[in-house]
Order: sequence, then C-alpha cells, then structure tokens
Amino acid sequence: MTVGNDVEAGELRAWIAGHRAEMLADLAAYVSLETPSNDKALLDAGLDWLDGYLAARLGAPAATRRADGGAFGGIGGRGDIGVYGDARINDYPGQGNAPIVLLAHYDTVWPAGTLASWPFTVEGDRATGPGTFDMKAGLVQLVWALRALDATGLPRPPLRLLLNGDEEIGSPVSRPLIEEAARDAAAVLVFEASADGALKTARKGVGIFQLAFTGVEAHAGLEPANGASAIDELARAVRRLHDLADPGAGTTVNVGVVAGGTGSNVVAGAARAEVDVRVSSQAEAARVDAALAGLRPHDPRASIQVRGGWNRPAMERGPGTARLFALACAVAAEMGLDLRECSVGGASDGNFAAALGVPVLDGLGAVGAGAHARHEHISVDGMVERAALTAGLLRALALPD
Ligand SMILES: [Zn+2]
Repeated sequence: MTVGNDVEAGELRAWIAGHRAEMLADLAAYVSLETPSNDKALLDAGLDWLDGYLAARLGAPAATRRADGGAFGGIGGRGDIGVYGDARINDYPGQGNAPIVLLAHYDTVWPAGTLASWPFTVEGDRATGPGTFDMKAGLVQLVWALRALDATGLPRPPLRLLLNGDEEIGSPVSRPLIEEAARDAAAVLVFEASADGALKTARKGVGIFQLAFTGVEAHAGLEPANGASAIDELARAVRRLHDLADPGAGTTVNVGVVAGGTGSNVVAGAARAEVDVRVSSQAEAARVDAALAGLRPHDPRASIQVRGGWNRPAMERGPGTARLFALACAVAAEMGLDLRECSVGGASDGNFAAALGVPVLDGLGAVGAGAHARHEHISVDGMVERAALTAGLLRALALPD
C-alpha cells in the first residue's frame, strides 16, 4: 500500500520529536486542571481552558459549537439538571469531502483534590498524574500531530473534533452528539489510551442489569409451604444467567452483587441481584436480551423484575475498520514503528460510532498503563511516536484513494 513517502513520514516524526518539551509542557498544564465527571464547575473551567489552548495551538476552527450538558439533565439516571460537562464540537477545514471525527473526552475518574497528593510529575520517560493516560495525553498528541502537518505543509482531511465531559459515566448526554457527528464521517479516530501500544479495533458492548425477586414470606418452621422463597428464585436465576456466558462468542456474564431475606427463620420475601454482561456482537446482545425477558419464576407465586439495559453497544471489527487499521500499519511501517491491534472488554465512545457502521480506530492515544488506578502513567517517548503516527495517518486519509 502506498500511503505517501518515507521522506515525509521521517519529516513528520523529526518535527514532532523536536517539539517534545512543548508537548510535555502542554500535558503538564492540562493535567494540572482537575476535571472530574461529577463536578460541573471544574469541568466548565477545564473546557474553557481547552478552548483557549486549541485556539492558541490550532487557530480558530471553521465552525464551533458548545453543547450545554445541563440541557440534557435527567438522562442517565442522575435526575438532576446541569451536572454534566458541556461538549465542544470544532470543525477544521481540510482536503476531501467527508470529515474524519476525532473523539477525546476531557473528564477523568479522579475526584476534586486528587492533585494535592498526586501532582503531575515526570521522571525520565515516565509522566504521571490524574488523567494523564486516560486520556489527557491523547488530546495533546493529536494537537501536535495537526501542528506537524501544518508546519510541514502536508495535507490533512476535514476534521471534526468532539470533546465531551461525561465519558467516564457512560456518555449519557454526549451520546447523541457523537452519533450526529459520526453519521456522515469517513472514519472516527478515538484518542483513548492504547492497550500496551496496541490499537483497539473491537470493544465489547456492556449491559448492566438489576434483577428484583419477590416471594411470599412465611414462618420457615411452622408453615413453610405457605411461603415462596425469593432467595430460591434468585439462586436458580443466577445459575441460568451464568449459563448464558459463551467464552467462544466473547460473552461474559457476572452476577456481582446479591442480597435478600430478613432472617434465617423467614422464607425470603425479597431478593435482588446486579449483573454485568459483556458481548462482542449485537447478535449476542439480542440473545441475552431474549433470555432475560424469558426469565420466569420457578414458583408461580413469586415474580422476577428485570431493569437496566445496554450502556454501550458492541464495537465490532467491520471491513471498514480492518481497512483503516491496515492503513495505520502502513503508516507506522514508514516510520519504523510496529503496530498491533487488539480487542478489549471495556467500552468507549468508539462503540457508539461503530454501531452506526462507521470505521473506528480506537486506542490512538497514550502509551502507558494504569487507567483508573493510582499508578496511571504515560511514556513521553510514546507521546512523540503516537503524535507522529496520528499525523501520518491523517495525511494518508487526506490523499485520494
Ligand atoms: Zn477514557
């Protein structure tokens, strides 16, 4: 596959390597702003900073829109208005027709005050701080990839950058914005962290279900036949649910929480279970849905109620994604980089775009480890490499087929 030429690839890489210190300074500034998903004031301040940062680094976008997270209040089970982060959608002109959508969430799982005990620090190649890996370094890498293309006079496709502040809580308000942005896109690139350097070309869909069992209470010794045990119903259902797992098809089912009953001498009147389901295909999601809908109590006096649903659909590796990954591999090879792909159990906003049939490459962000953990860190050399890879990929996407 011809994707450009080695000279241009080398030029991009060298230009970005020459700006390593500035990239790191940008990351330090961005990580030093706390942006927990549940703190609207901090999220607003973070997005205001990002607006200024993007304008300074990339110039004014051709079109821009800030979608108020509060306007969607009440979706996602929180119930309260105005707690979600706003989203920013910027369009930048480029060569070609259909835009490439770039996804980067700016919220983190770390609560306000985390920086006091864990400030941004760099030791050798390792940079650490809340949100470095997931996924602040990813956005900084993208910004420097675009600067490299502009500085070297290489083409890029039309771009639509979407920043959201509710990804870590399941993107309840930004989901329709992501779908709207992705619908007419040529491809969606997600700057979430890599899996040990590998891109993510498939992600599981995630379902979270709550089951409530209602029985009939009775004295366990005097008149047990008058009772219908909710715990007995729960136990039977747990077996049936776990039997739905199909490792070969990529389906996992975990009843992670159970509770019920009031005393050992009372036939249990109520019990509940919380279930996490992960699937690799929509067909498997439909199979699980049918099984849940078909749950019936063993004792007709008892009842089972199922609540919850699918938080994100499965991100299946379609032919468009396979072509996109092949292009990324060719670009990486020009730069002397080895690129791998993988399928992961966790979901991201890439799942929403893939469900629309749009090719998605995820995990283009940082190289490092420790998402959602105190040892979260990134490789600074990795930032240079991934920014170069992103620049090369965008240049290749701007070239006619
Ligand atoms: Zn993330």
